[in-house]
Amino acid sequence: MNKWSSPHFDTFLFFFMTNFIDMGLSEALLQGVEALGFETPTPIQQQVIPVALQSDDDIVALAQTGTGKTAAFGLPLLQRIRPEDKYVQAVVLCPTRELCIQVANDLANYTRFANRYKVVAVYGGASIEAQMRQIRSGVHIIVATPGRLVDLLVRQVVSLDRVSRVVLDEADEMLNMGFRDAVDIILEAAENRQSLWLFSATMPSEVRAIADTYMRTPVEIGAATRQQANADIEHHYYLCRSEHRYDALKRVVDAHPGIYGLVFCRTRAETKEIAEQMIRDGYNADALHGDLSQSDRDRVMQRFRERNLQLLIATDVAARGIDVSDISHVIHYGLPDEPEVYIHRAGRTGRAGRKGVSISIITPKMEERIRLIERRARISFMRKPIPTGPEVCERQLFYIIQSIREQEVQREQIAPFLPQIFEALRDLSKEELIERFASTEFNRFLAYYRNAADINVGAHRQRGDRPNHAERAQASSSIGHQRLFLNIGHMDGIQKKDLLGLLMSEFRVPKRAIGKVEVKRTHTLLEVDAAFVRDVRRGLEAFDVNGRRIRINEDSAPNGGKAPYQDKRKKRSSKTPIALL
Ligand code: AMP
Repeated sequence: MNKWSSPHFDTFLFFFMTNFIDMGLSEALLQGVEALGFETPTPIQQQVIPVALQSDDDIVALAQTGTGKTAAFGLPLLQRIRPEDKYVQAVVLCPTRELCIQVANDLANYTRFANRYKVVAVYGGASIEAQMRQIRSGVHIIVATPGRLVDLLVRQVVSLDRVSRVVLDEADEMLNMGFRDAVDIILEAAENRQSLWLFSATMPSEVRAIADTYMRTPVEIGAATRQQANADIEHHYYLCRSEHRYDALKRVVDAHPGIYGLVFCRTRAETKEIAEQMIRDGYNADALHGDLSQSDRDRVMQRFRERNLQLLIATDVAARGIDVSDISHVIHYGLPDEPEVYIHRAGRTGRAGRKGVSISIITPKMEERIRLIERRARISFMRKPIPTGPEVCERQLFYIIQSIREQEVQREQIAPFLPQIFEALRDLSKEELIERFASTEFNRFLAYYRNAADINVGAHRQRGDRPNHAERAQASSSIGHQRLFLNIGHMDGIQKKDLLGLLMSEFRVPKRAIGKVEVKRTHTLLEVDAAFVRDVRRGLEAFDVNGRRIRINEDSAPNGGKAPYQDKRKKRSSKTPIALL
């Protein structure tokens, strides 16, 4: 076993080696680090840099994005390059083009005060000729996606014979994306290397297999890092029934005004669907997934980076390489299968010393997975109640008030209009003015959430359990009505009082849970508390009226589905017309 891998030595390093100078980095690199504003090495940097600088040991490091892993391998990699030798001395493999560009940029930033290093990023989807020219002009470090580097090897544009160090960045993702063969080819082409450094957010058996095949007693780093990486992140979860998940997502977003978030979905299809729904509902959101062209992905990323986009809905793979350090919330629309993937996703927030919140919107059957993540990752989740309509309104209101307080006033520009404005508002008292200003924004939320149902699920309930009658009756005093369309009306001999009698005596729906009932010639519109919809549906659908089965359609959103943002932004498409059967 190598001297560095002793657990005592790691602990020693962790507590006492707290600055970059003590690590033995060159003056020029120290200047670069300082210019970037890095004061203290992150835990992964504290553990990796000394080993990587002073030994030729192979390294396996468990490190999520956001932990400072790029500098952990980048700084020692650069320091161990001999700039006077003009050939490829190191290779960094990354799963995506975005990550390649980001890593190459980071390396360039570290060497701002020692620009004798030549680094090139090569990846698919860009001109191979231009990349060939750059390589031929002499480079020290190639940062590459595996597929493109194999392509360059096949064309004999590059030789890895004299490569001393190979870094596999986000190894788990590289293997997920099917790059194992390409990684094998590259590691064989770089067989004269002195060390291999593997960085991975998770450690599935496929990643272990690489370490087993290509490494000799590697130094293992990462257990402490995992805890440190999560220290600034709070983990919350919201429980709802599966049909309410989208509504719960909207509530959570609405209850966090000013959110700048990344929403993870499990599949491309779900990503598209949620993004489309959110855009339709007037949210400032867009999707990032593998079906988009590279230029569309770049465009979406740019908007997000510039904060012109508030919510980015993404798949795990597409979100790789996103380097945005001030994401306030990561939302998991459902949980991933692997706890490690959850941790990796959550690591997109709470970066570089900032606080972040990781929010999971789940159904009761997923609650067990929360416990599994808690055990595996040694973190704690807090269950939060899905905000009710009045709570969302309250949070929005105070956000509006805060924004008004902090509003920058362009005195010069507004000055010419002020006399007219004062004149127009002259009759209003200060109180009336405040009420009106706050209401201009607030009314939309109030209108949307006035009758919104409580979509929380009881914590104690198991999958499939439903609230009991008393709970629903009690809940019905505060929650919203669902509108049902029945295919029966006056022409079928239906009277309002008959229907009410049926609902109350047969289906035991309390009177207060029944809203407006309008019996028309051919159909009936019936408002009933959301908690009783299932019972009403079941009961009515078992009835025949003059030989005709009663059929019911329901409108799922409260208030006929009008989104709170409707006035301001894109109009929602109108609801599908109700086909009375
Ligand atoms: P990475 O995990 O390499 O993607 O880095 C995450 C973010 O942390 C990047 O924005 C880095 O610029 C930043 N960072 C890396 N190391 C440090 C450090 N020692 N101090 C402050 N910020 C850092």
